[in-house]
Amino acid sequence: MNNQEFVETIISLGSNIERERHLPEAIRLLRRHRRIEVREVSRFFESAPVGGPADAPEFFNAAMVACTDLAPEELRTELRRIESVLGRVRTDDRNAPRTIDIDIAYYGGVVAEFDDWQLPDPAAATSPHVAIPIADVAPMFVDPVSGKTTYDLMLGVSASAEAVKPVTAIRLAQPYDSRGPEEFDQAGDVYAPALEAIVRAQLLEIGENPDREGLVRTPLRVSKALDFLTNGYATSLSEVVNNAVFDAEGADEMVLVKDVEFYSMCEHHMLPFFGKAAVAYIPRGKIIGLSKVARVVDLYARRLQVQERLTNQVADAISKILEPRGVGVVIEGQHLCMMMRGVQKQDSSTITSAMRGNFKEDPRTRSEFIDLVRG
Ligand code: ZN
Repeated sequence: MNNQEFVETIISLGSNIERERHLPEAIRLLRRHRRIEVREVSRFFESAPVGGPADAPEFFNAAMVACTDLAPEELRTELRRIESVLGRVRTDDRNAPRTIDIDIAYYGGVVAEFDDWQLPDPAAATSPHVAIPIADVAPMFVDPVSGKTTYDLMLGVSASAEAVKPVTAIRLAQPYDSRGPEEFDQAGDVYAPALEAIVRAQLLEIGENPDREGLVRTPLRVSKALDFLTNGYATSLSEVVNNAVFDAEGADEMVLVKDVEFYSMCEHHMLPFFGKAAVAYIPRGKIIGLSKVARVVDLYARRLQVQERLTNQVADAISKILEPRGVGVVIEGQHLCMMMRGVQKQDSSTITSAMRGNFKEDPRTRSEFIDLVRG
């Protein structure tokens, strides 16, 4: 994603059908969206339904700050798509119970009228169940219509807000963080309900008791770990590189970054393989920050992979970003699926390489690279 086009948005969410499942799942799908970067999620709030039948179930409401390069209508289309994935059927009855409701409350400072909606969402300034979660997650955000902060708007509507109360039993994991899965281990925590249900079924299927003490929170932990270990799917190359390409006129010496540790999972068994990568290139006017090379490796390692493809993807990514004279990538990996099943000796490893440009065409460049990697 390109920084210039990145817009900060506030998205509001609500659910009153299987809300414990649908609201976290909606947040997870938004986190996984390639062009939406969730920055922060509010607490969950419980609110009485507005209008509709007297016995309608109460809502869970939340709000999030998310950045995107999608235009307002495109973002709205994507939110509608996620709603339909979660079983939302829109009807003429605005007050009908719903699995999930996802709306754009603010799109930067944009004030605009569309066919049947507007920005900002008027509910952000008038409805407690929208205003309170927004003030929880982004209290200093300034409403472009009134010039007031969302915190002040919330105070303005909170007189009628007795029916909105925070839900403390359900706490959501903080948005995806590249530092890794934090310990997240309290009763009532919810992360990815659909995934957790599958892990629980898996435990049953192998003859375990998912309700015994040591396993009660295992589905949550596994979901969080799996989400982290595959977050390469939810990250783009341009987001990783993000302005770290520099002009370097005259630089024509080989640049080598070696011993780049990586951890991946084989796509055949979903078991880890791990090792070290060496990435080299000969620039043609452009270089990249050294730490970014490791992040490019992570971007492709954190997916279900085979080592050969990982090696090629890293080489192609460096070629694409830098258009260098040549690229060489060597990866040495140990595969737990082989080691644990005794297919391979404990100390043996698999070496793969990918050569592009003059690394491929010029044997001297290639052997210089290989010597440097070994040395
Ligand atoms: Zn395998």
